[in-house]
Amino acid sequence: MSAHRAYVGLGSNEGDRDQHLRRALERLAAVPGVKVARVSSFVDSELVGDGPPQGRFRNAVAELHTTLPPAALLAVCKALEAEAGRRLPAPRNHPRPLDLDLLFHGDCRLDTRELVLPHARWHEREFVMGPLRELGLDLAALPRQQRPIVLTSPEDLAATCTGWLEGGCLIGLVPTMGSLHRGHQSLVQRARGECDRVVVTIFVNPLQFGPGEDFAAYPRDLETDLARCRDAGADVVFAPATAAMYDPAFCSHVSVGAAAEGMEGALRPGHFSGVATVVARLFVMVRPHRAYFGEKDAQQLAVVRRLARDLGFPLRVVPCPIVREADGLAMSSRNVYLGAADRRASTVLVQALRAAREAFRAGQRDRDRLLQVAAAVLAGEPRAALDYLELRSEGDLEPLPPGPVVGGRLLVAARFRDGARPVRLLDNLSLAADDA
Ligand code: AMP
Repeated sequence: MSAHRAYVGLGSNEGDRDQHLRRALERLAAVPGVKVARVSSFVDSELVGDGPPQGRFRNAVAELHTTLPPAALLAVCKALEAEAGRRLPAPRNHPRPLDLDLLFHGDCRLDTRELVLPHARWHEREFVMGPLRELGLDLAALPRQQRPIVLTSPEDLAATCTGWLEGGCLIGLVPTMGSLHRGHQSLVQRARGECDRVVVTIFVNPLQFGPGEDFAAYPRDLETDLARCRDAGADVVFAPATAAMYDPAFCSHVSVGAAAEGMEGALRPGHFSGVATVVARLFVMVRPHRAYFGEKDAQQLAVVRRLARDLGFPLRVVPCPIVREADGLAMSSRNVYLGAADRRASTVLVQALRAAREAFRAGQRDRDRLLQVAAAVLAGEPRAALDYLELRSEGDLEPLPPGPVVGGRLLVAARFRDGARPVRLLDNLSLAADDA
């Protein structure tokens, strides 16, 4: 193999940092097929991202001339990290004696579980860019990974995921309708922490909207969504047009039984069939190992769990806790349509649920009395027109008979009408929840 120019980022923030870097460079230079051509100065940097309190990093970039292929050079880097005392599996963002990142290897492009070339985030890190500049490289001319990759065709999405699956990647899927907020981002971040690749889908799915519902008015803002996906760590954003998802002759639908009955299912006939159909279609395109759904839409979560079990999709449905505004309102894309007075009144939902949970904590076990506690709070807010208030079993959300309960989840939906357009808000709370 002819020699390639490769660049390696070095970092250390544990022990004698300079010594770790110097030793790694000596050991690299001693590897057959590797010549250390040039090394930048050593620079200091802070940890990027969240992690336990720790010291600053010492960083450098080395230019190598190597006949080793990328996988072999990576193996050398891993061996040197281990030799320096790095614990494996390395806990994310913990202090480490040595970190070696393969940044570039000739003009090789790779996207496997072990190795992404060029390195996915070199251009976001000053401790890499500074040394590269010092070595005289024109950063604007260097290749980058596009993150997130924006795809609009199901075929491209499937092909990208096939490549990742063949590269041994664990894929996480976060289906959304866009207009993303911190609630959605929490799902993406969770997936980022647990998976090798994260696919976020943004699709306002017409199948799950009934006549007269807010399909046309549903908020859409792809540019902002892309920035939020990037910040949260998405690898792909799939944002198809309706015609790409459903060709004109499309006529197959997933029908959902008991899980879709009552509550949202009763108020929005066909809604969960539309949800299950699009989710099944996304599962088939992406073939994720894990799919992330918010507890915010608790009945949807129950429907999707049932769907995955009944149709045998080989994946884990991961429930994610509700993210709330500081005053307790569950974040929702539709909150932007609340008028100021309704926005203030909207916290009545979470207050009602919390009041019932307090009663449960204080020893009240009777289903109807718990519901009465919540209903009394709701009745105190005339702006909220109640659609339903129920106490159901955890997980499957099965109806609970009257009488004593050992636990369960309270679910509420109400309409507010004084903003730009009527808004329906949903909320729910586990009686066992110990959050605020
Ligand atoms: P949507 O875009 O409304 O279809 O939501 C996409 C996903 O984000 C669903 O799994 C929702 O349950 C989840 N989600 C929406 N709002 C929140 C929130 N406030 N906290 C956590 N997850 C949420």
